Amino acid sequence: MRDFSADHRWLSINTATLRGAGRLDTAIEACARHGVRAISPWRDQVAEISLARTRELVRTHGLALSGYCRGGLFTAVDAAGRRAALDDNRRAVDEAKALDAACLVLVVGGLPGALAGRVASKDLAAARREVADGIAATLVYARSVGMPLAIEPLHPMYAAERACVNTLAQALDLCEELDPLSADSLADSPTAAAALGVAVDVYHVWWDPQLEAQIARAGRHRLMAFHVCDWLVPTTDLLNDRGMMGDGVIDIARIRGWVEQAGFAGYSEVEIFSSGNWWKRPVDEVIATCIERHRRVV
Ligand code: ZN
Repeated sequence: MRDFSADHRWLSINTATLRGAGRLDTAIEACARHGVRAISPWRDQVAEISLARTRELVRTHGLALSGYCRGGLFTAVDAAGRRAALDDNRRAVDEAKALDAACLVLVVGGLPGALAGRVASKDLAAARREVADGIAATLVYARSVGMPLAIEPLHPMYAAERACVNTLAQALDLCEELDPLSADSLADSPTAAAALGVAVDVYHVWWDPQLEAQIARAGRHRLMAFHVCDWLVPTTDLLNDRGMMGDGVIDIARIRGWVEQAGFAGYSEVEIFSSGNWWKRPVDEVIATCIERHRRVV
């Protein structure tokens, strides 16, 4: 396991963590000021300052993108909605490519209509099939331009609104179904990433009794991103009360050990949605705290 205690070269900041800073350009400048080498921006943040401007800032500061957030949300109440989702995912792939992201993260969608507060169906199995179809269609395009897709399983509390892929096992089943890797292709290219893999976010999967085994199953070809924050006790908001690493109950270092044992050697990406706490603090304090916790508890 890599030693993170001496520096923060493997720290990436998911820029949702810095929503309190305002615009993405401010957040990027702050990351650069603190010697952060990688970020993972959100599409709405990029759209606000434009893709071209984001690209320029990323290049000026020599930043890597540990991921791009996000594609997915494949389920819809009708065929037009599903088509629109596929079109949007294609644009997300293009943006990820323009920014040279390591992967496009997929939050796959829940029950159709639920995110908008008008559930059109309670058929969770059908939603999961729709998700598989949406990933399959997007994968054809993503593969053609060389942009890996990373399915992020979300904690089951989000199954209705955001993602009906809720465990790493479920995500890996989809990977194997839609992007099978033969023993030959792995032997030919032992370090090549798969076209479809997973993003392991400790917030979503820390509770899973199968976590260690499923991380081992994923292996280095499927492990495309590693997201960290903490689970606060108590948690006061199901979406926007994520904790800073070390402030909650997740044994982050243990999970990082499993991920690295499986061959992952990429960035540890801090992703904290915190409307009541970290989004209210000065951006320099947030980043300095991320760095300190990255070195001490990640
Ligand atoms: Zn995440």
